[in-house]
Amino acid sequence: MLFYPDYYCNKVTDITLELLEKNHIKGVLLDVDNTLIDYDRNLLEGAEEWVSKMKANNIRCMILSNSNKIDKITAVAEILKLPYIYFATKPWKRGFNKAKAELGLQEENIAVVGDQIFTDIIGANRSKMFSILVNPIAKKDIWITKCKRPLEEWIIKSYVKKQKKKEE
Ligand SMILES: [Mg+2]
Repeated sequence: MLFYPDYYCNKVTDITLELLEKNHIKGVLLDVDNTLIDYDRNLLEGAEEWVSKMKANNIRCMILSNSNKIDKITAVAEILKLPYIYFATKPWKRGFNKAKAELGLQEENIAVVGDQIFTDIIGANRSKMFSILVNPIAKKDIWITKCKRPLEEWIIKSYVKKQKKKEE
């Protein structure tokens, strides 16, 4: 299902090495807005430690953001010491393909983490990568994202319901 993530959790720092290893993931593409930072550019608590741990375990991390605000993206990239692609035009495949080439990995070994179904998740699924949906770290969004949230919430609800049924 194009709209459903392969995995859903609260925030980036909830993603464990075990989950990645179990799914043969060797690289992670991270969204920025509302995944790593909030609207006021505060970094998610524990993000630095999480990235360091991933790197120490040979998980290649990279920023893949749709934002065209280069100063914002480079600031996050600098703190986390990560390579980055900005203005990535997710869900189109261009940015995902570029990231894949830069990581030097196969799509089935790459996870994509983001808070938006219509950009991060659909893009990851179309690119045959492992899609991980997180909750937006803050309620505040830019207007275009705000418009998409009700439909996203509806999809997430139906996804969670389906997962619960599977577990029964
Ligand atoms: Mg986002």
